Amino acid sequence: MNISHSRDLFDRASLVVPGGVNSPVRAFGAVGGTPRFMVEAAGPYLTDADGNRYVDLVCSWGPMILGHAHPSVVEALSVAAAKGTSFGTATPGEVALAEEIVSRVAPVEKVRLVSSGTEATMSAVRLARGFTGRSKVVKFAGCYHGHVDALLASAGSGVITFGLPDTPGVTGASAADTIVLPYNSVSAVEEAFAAYGGEIACVITEACPANMGVVRPLPGFNARLRELCTANGALLIIDEVLTGFRVSAAGWYGLEPVDADLMTFGKVMGGGLPAAAFGGRADVMDLLAPAGPVYQAGTLSGNPLACAAGLATLQACTPAVYAAVDAAAQRVGDLAAEALSKAGVPHRLHRAGNLFSIFFTDEEVVDFAGARRQDTGAYKAFFHAMLDHGVYLPPSAFEAWFLSAAHDDEALDRIAEALPRAAEAAAQAAST
Ligand code: PLP
Repeated sequence: MNISHSRDLFDRASLVVPGGVNSPVRAFGAVGGTPRFMVEAAGPYLTDADGNRYVDLVCSWGPMILGHAHPSVVEALSVAAAKGTSFGTATPGEVALAEEIVSRVAPVEKVRLVSSGTEATMSAVRLARGFTGRSKVVKFAGCYHGHVDALLASAGSGVITFGLPDTPGVTGASAADTIVLPYNSVSAVEEAFAAYGGEIACVITEACPANMGVVRPLPGFNARLRELCTANGALLIIDEVLTGFRVSAAGWYGLEPVDADLMTFGKVMGGGLPAAAFGGRADVMDLLAPAGPVYQAGTLSGNPLACAAGLATLQACTPAVYAAVDAAAQRVGDLAAEALSKAGVPHRLHRAGNLFSIFFTDEEVVDFAGARRQDTGAYKAFFHAMLDHGVYLPPSAFEAWFLSAAHDDEALDRIAEALPRAAEAAAQAAST
């Protein structure tokens, strides 16, 4: 496969952009090799700068549920663009998108639009602190909520640990109010509330984690978080940036209706443009400026292009679209597991609605510590063999694989053809 243009672009980029990319995972650091620079995408395919075509199993990390360059989204965007790209005023599109979200997800009575998932979770945490007058935030190891300082905290060695900065640049003070607990451990949450109940502003959790690979909440876990928050006067923030409007019309809430006080959204609701949101109980949301004292704002919040793309995407997400995504995810998960079994590669297929990921281990995975025990070397070999055969997987073993309604039989057949050879490559890597 000729990748000389991608190579040249990466060299040029590395001179002017840190690490050559604008978001770390794109650099292929976890799998090695040259990141592909994409120039075009249509339906289930990506085309790189050298003209190589790949079946896309990343789908922009979730947003492209309809496939790339879907005609209704492209049409909505061109109509909106011709009318101007940003006004810095209120617009009708924002009202329509907010109404669409509120109509789908029952706990969301009011919603505020922002431009990224990070902004959504950052603002939701600020609002929870403003509402409760408390400062501590409980989060779970392995759950990703964007690069918010307070949420970039790692667990220490005990069960209840105050956050240690995950990265230089996050101060001890920013992380010190964050309590990091092992995912799926009800007893850890109970202990944290027993010790610090009156100081905890909120618990934030991914509705179903998919940023350490896909790890389902154990039965009753989310419901127990709800009970504990209510009993202790803390708010529950359920982060649906990744799952929202992807796993069902109402996101994970549609599959497991646990009521949060605040929820966060992004990805699908922006249709591939920068749009995200946080919303929830009206009495909490009404604390936001200008209705209330908690400040939050954005020059491009509710941008007309982003709202047009998001609304067109949500409106095109019919039951048939969800059925198609579900069926494609079922088939690709089955095919991958079958190929890996045949090649004798230890693995676990984790599904959550139409999300799935494969852990390269035969041990049970219920939390981040378990996820980290997988054989990332085997994944690296698997990833590159798939890439060489024209299938673009997430360039990290800790990510979900994303399908779209555009993944038709032709695209799925290409994946089916590539898998046995990739499984063999993983087997060889696993045995060395
Ligand atoms: N929350 C979750 C669950 C996510 O998966 C992500 C991104 O992957 C974010 C928040 C952050 O969103 P963004 O990358 O738009 O800032």
